[in-house]
Amino acid sequence: MRAPNFYAHPGFERAGLRRRESEWIRARVLDRESLFVPVWRSQSLVLASEAGEAQAVILGAQTVATLLGSGNGELEEQQAQGQVIFLGLIDDRAHFALDLSVHDAPLDVLRSPALAGAGLAASGLRFGDLRQFGAGLARHEGALLALARAMTFWHSRHRFCGVCGAPTRSEEAGHVRRCTAPNCATVHFPRTDPAVIMLVTDGDRALLGRNKNFLPGMYSTLAGFVEPGESLEDAVAREVREETAIEVRAVHYHSSQPWPFPANIMLGFYAEAASTAITVDYGELEDARWFERDWLLSHTDDDNFRLPRRDSIARRLIEDWLARSGS
Ligand SMILES: [Zn+2]
Repeated sequence: MRAPNFYAHPGFERAGLRRRESEWIRARVLDRESLFVPVWRSQSLVLASEAGEAQAVILGAQTVATLLGSGNGELEEQQAQGQVIFLGLIDDRAHFALDLSVHDAPLDVLRSPALAGAGLAASGLRFGDLRQFGAGLARHEGALLALARAMTFWHSRHRFCGVCGAPTRSEEAGHVRRCTAPNCATVHFPRTDPAVIMLVTDGDRALLGRNKNFLPGMYSTLAGFVEPGESLEDAVAREVREETAIEVRAVHYHSSQPWPFPANIMLGFYAEAASTAITVDYGELEDARWFERDWLLSHTDDDNFRLPRRDSIARRLIEDWLARSGS
């Protein structure tokens, strides 16, 4: 069996049935064994070394109790605002996302005298974009930070009801937001938007393209959002046709990857080319070309050509194809 894609974590117990048990959730928030993943305005807390390596920083319950306060309904209010979100269990320990976005200077808060002794004084401590260091994290940490980022992002974008415009409140340990207008009370659920990502092949050649926002020399698989009323297979064919004018057949599913940048699930496919002449849509891409398998196998990344980042399903699709013997 192949390893899951980066940012996926099959060992993680979401314990979804416990989200409605508010007393149990409250007890877990206060439980000294519980752990909290801080997120600040979609950025994750890491300890970065001078060499650029990063390690996730997870907060203990005592630190969080000092940060949040635990009396006079403070905790309930913070939960209702969606600042404390139950993520699930790892080895029976509850894990939460802790949204610190209300603070303008979260590092100052973490380094306040009240938290001296929490081990947060290190100079390499910083909030940063998971995309910058995710691939260097341990897989389970990458998955945990990705989930925390996705959930806090959803809360930040659903503070008001999309039906009537009234404020919403978080319920079910952060997995629901309900409209506060009594005559509306619409329930909103966390969103993840499907995107297809596909490696198109023609025998021993693979079609890769580059977007002008990519790193210098980076070529990757084509990708795009699934539209309403469209099957995944049709989305694959349409995106390839729109971006390169190539027709595809034999669309086969490979695997999926949670991709919280900001709120996607990437659905990976292989497709065979039914036509081979490329017409690049320069609105979408800067270039698209066929690359020979042997050339890809012998090339090492440089500014003229590099494969996509190692934590991406795009890289996985390409490497799995390259690893296949023969065809
Ligand atoms: Zn409403």
